[in-house]
Amino acid sequence: MREFSQLCEQVAATTKKTEKTRLIAAYLAAHDPVVAGIAAGFLCGRPFPASEEATLQVGGALIWRVISSIASLSGDEISRAYRKTGDTGAATEMVLQGHAASGPALSVIEVEQAFRHIADARGTDAKAAELEALLRRAQPVETKYILKIITGDLRIGSRESLVEEAIAQAFAVKPAEVRRANMMLGDIGEMLRLAREHQLHQAKMRLFHPLKFMLATAAESSAQAFDYFSDAAVEDKYDGVRAQAHCAGGKVKLFSRTLDEITASFPEAAAALEKMPEGVILDGEILAWDASAVSSAAIEAAEEEGVAVAMTRFHSHHRGRALSFSALQKRLGRKNVTREMMERVPVAYVCFDVIYSQGELVIDRPLRERLLILDRVFEKYAATSAAQTGCPVLRAPVAHAASAEDLDAIFDAARARGNEGLMVKDLDAAYQPGRRGKSWLKLKRELATLDVVVTAAEWGNGRKAPWLSDYTFAVRDGERLLNVGKAYSGVTDAEIQQLTAHFLEATLVDYGHHRLVEPDTVFEVAFNNIMRSERHESGYALRFPRIVRIRGDKTAAEIDTLERVREIYESELAQGRVGAKRG
Ligand code: AMP
Repeated sequence: MREFSQLCEQVAATTKKTEKTRLIAAYLAAHDPVVAGIAAGFLCGRPFPASEEATLQVGGALIWRVISSIASLSGDEISRAYRKTGDTGAATEMVLQGHAASGPALSVIEVEQAFRHIADARGTDAKAAELEALLRRAQPVETKYILKIITGDLRIGSRESLVEEAIAQAFAVKPAEVRRANMMLGDIGEMLRLAREHQLHQAKMRLFHPLKFMLATAAESSAQAFDYFSDAAVEDKYDGVRAQAHCAGGKVKLFSRTLDEITASFPEAAAALEKMPEGVILDGEILAWDASAVSSAAIEAAEEEGVAVAMTRFHSHHRGRALSFSALQKRLGRKNVTREMMERVPVAYVCFDVIYSQGELVIDRPLRERLLILDRVFEKYAATSAAQTGCPVLRAPVAHAASAEDLDAIFDAARARGNEGLMVKDLDAAYQPGRRGKSWLKLKRELATLDVVVTAAEWGNGRKAPWLSDYTFAVRDGERLLNVGKAYSGVTDAEIQQLTAHFLEATLVDYGHHRLVEPDTVFEVAFNNIMRSERHESGYALRFPRIVRIRGDKTAAEIDTLERVREIYESELAQGRVGAKRG
């Protein structure tokens, strides 16, 4: 583990990607396949291969309990060290300086075994005991990297793609073959062993570990969407949560966009997908669903005008319609879902792509072929009883658009159905996992921006720990300032530093983690939506607020009003795009 930690230090010390790759490649080539395989996983910030179910379930509180027991430290000393580094591993190395490790030197293999013991241990006390036994044998620098692996982020600039590159270099194999085999196996160590033997073609697709999602780029306008490609598949942009469904032999797993397993949060969707007629990996969106809604007047009107007929018919053919994201929110992040909750907020799975079918990874096929595969899968699925009862599993209707005018008409119909906008997809493009390319374009209408004033600032996390980087902001209601949200994205590091210096001066009350500040800093914020909220006195919360710019030219007297927020909310509500319920 000493040598591995030294490698990490060297990789962290250079900013050059080629040098990082070279260092990692040299280490992997010089070690036996078992050690190199484990190290490759560790370098991706993973204690276990992606395809394994084992998880450590070791959080910050447990780590600090163990560290304070080893080093006899107070919570205060620990939090000071954390504030300085913003990183659990680095903070620990600092507080453990001078502590000698006991027992024989640790090997990479032993660290992996210890991780398995921690994963197997039941209860926090048992986990803490296993972790303590491991860390007592580690030098401070080893502890640093052990904890970085446990927390899942090495922060040495070694991402999985870089480790893949290093494996290609170490064993003189093609990077594309390395990436593909790693994606199929979900186990970088096993892939390394195949690469070493020049046997990457032997890799077989394994289900039930998540593949990265293909992402979309925003298009400014429908005209711009057509600059990229001429023949487009157009789908509604549904406002739910992305989910990759792995289905085979009556078993189902759902994964989120962050590659976390979310099957337990949506048991009814998993149960409905169990009846898939063949082994498939589907890509789609989980939506809050109103099963009783029949086609709305807006849809009928659109149909009368002959707008987006195929799509509209399809939508009205299925009873039910998607509800807003705020309705779905009550279902998010739950480990155990009660029957009552499933009845209160029913969901549907709307599928728009296929990644694997009939024993084959189909990501290299063009979208037009993948859509045909989906036709076939869904035809067979529709014949099963599961399709009629339980959670709806639907195919996202696809329309074709050949001009910007077509697209505008479909866009309005999608908004009338209560969806966010459109996805415009290149029919000739492959499925590119993890890529935000131009083959998928999203077309949304941004809501107007608001000018708001900062009322409170909070210390950040991780890299931003030394700065006041989270800002609560308010609109005006007469003389009063009422909070409507909190934002931390959209400003540069340099701006955050200036804001920190300013808010330290302008602090009215210091509550430790956050401070109330003089309301003298105006931001222009963009956002995706407005929701009713009990968290803020204003009764509203902006969804996904982003700081567009700091308005040094404005004072708190000139910011937007609560009335304006209400107007935007009412107008969105009238068009069925926000949840009326408080959330
Ligand atoms: P954004 O989150 O704004 O970057 O938009 C991309 C997201 O839109 C995807 O990650 C999906 O969760 C969601 N989405 C909704 N409908 C679709 C669709 N028909 N095709 C692809 N993504 C969709």
